[in-house]
Amino acid sequence: MLDDIAIVSNVFPFKTNSYVIEELINWDQPINDPIFNLVFPKKGMLLEHHYRMMKQGMDIFSAKELNNLSNSIRSELNPQPAGQKTLNTPILNGERLNGVQHKYKETVLFFPKNSQTCHAYCTFCFRWPQFVNMKDQKFASKEVDKLIEYLQIHPEVSDLLFTGGDPMVMKARVFEKYINPILEADIPHLRTIRIGSKSLSYWPSRYTTDKDADHMLQIFSTINQKHNLAFMAHFNHYQELQTQSLEEAVTNIRKTGTQIRTQSPILNHINADHRVWKKMWKMQVDLGMIPYYMFLVRDTGAQHYFGVTLLNAWRIFNRAYREVSGIARTVRGPSMSCTPGKILFSGPAKIGNEDVMVLKFIQGRDASWVNKPFFAKYNPNAIWIDDLEPVFEDSFFFEDQEIQFQEEDFATTFPVLDESVNY
Ligand SMILES: *Cc1c(COP(=O)(O)O)cnc(C)c1O
Ligand code: SF4
Repeated sequence: MLDDIAIVSNVFPFKTNSYVIEELINWDQPINDPIFNLVFPKKGMLLEHHYRMMKQGMDIFSAKELNNLSNSIRSELNPQPAGQKTLNTPILNGERLNGVQHKYKETVLFFPKNSQTCHAYCTFCFRWPQFVNMKDQKFASKEVDKLIEYLQIHPEVSDLLFTGGDPMVMKARVFEKYINPILEADIPHLRTIRIGSKSLSYWPSRYTTDKDADHMLQIFSTINQKHNLAFMAHFNHYQELQTQSLEEAVTNIRKTGTQIRTQSPILNHINADHRVWKKMWKMQVDLGMIPYYMFLVRDTGAQHYFGVTLLNAWRIFNRAYREVSGIARTVRGPSMSCTPGKILFSGPAKIGNEDVMVLKFIQGRDASWVNKPFFAKYNPNAIWIDDLEPVFEDSFFFEDQEIQFQEEDFATTFPVLDESVNY
């Protein structure tokens, strides 16, 4: 097992911490433990031939050769799903705005340079190329000035989402360097500030006993005086919700007037079981959090290992969803974040004699696509939109409109982080 961790972590980043090891993992049976599987790389995460190449490489290659091999394997794993690098970068004064993504009209994503890491790494993470070959990032005040300028001239933007990595790896005084100028800019159309974070799971003492915990909470209160702060918490299993420290952290954050919404992908080996979701949503509601999204595993990295078919994901979602009260049915899913948008699988159906899969956009590059049902041929093995075919037409209604940006979507080369953190 230790060998496998060493082999696989040449390709995928690996990082854990004492809280995860001591409080979250149940060591009675680590091999079957969801949190163990959430942070420790497993043999199955590499395709058989990649595993063999890497294992041999470790015996005979120099460090440099090994790095080249890792990079070539990585580049075969679709490191930039949904054209993240090229499709969503906005332009300001004729220049690409690095560290910002603007895909859906209302919401701008911001990737501060100081948040390109996490308190631990999830084995399934779709942002995995960001953590490979990392260099120290220094705060760049220019970053936030340009972001503000962009927001000011885009009145359609109501939400700004801080993401990463995990923005909550930042010290309070660093986070403040980003947030204060945004507050001072007084952008009238900017209503909600969101923070996407897994820190409640991996490092709850960020909001309880850490040296700057009070300072961070005070920043949250300040944001809430002017905006609506939504903490988008990432939890994959109810085992992450059971510690005293988590409970206190949630209470402290809620006291600042912040809403906590929760999201997770559905993952083989971790949470592909309706009982897990039901219990997780119920516990979240008990703690005052709002279930928000169930995602499908993206088409990158170890999707072959973690991916669940659309049909199974829907079955699991449904069985859990129908057994919780309406208060927990704020959750939507299962949903795929793909190039054209977020596509929800509503379930199988029969139309006339035809078995179909019913889908709809819950976010679209083109807002007019949203909430309109469309159909694919029934395919119980499909795990992603690429596995689906239209059933009544030659192409899906959104495909004609996609061609122009697919052409731009060129391949990625590694290492990627030296000059850009823009995903
Ligand atoms: C999911 C996502 C958002 C946020 O979508 P909401 O449905 O508003 O939560 C924004 N931008 C991108 C690129 C996303 O993938
Ligand atoms: S916390 Fe989020 S960004 Fe960090 S490794 Fe996990 S999934 Fe990826």
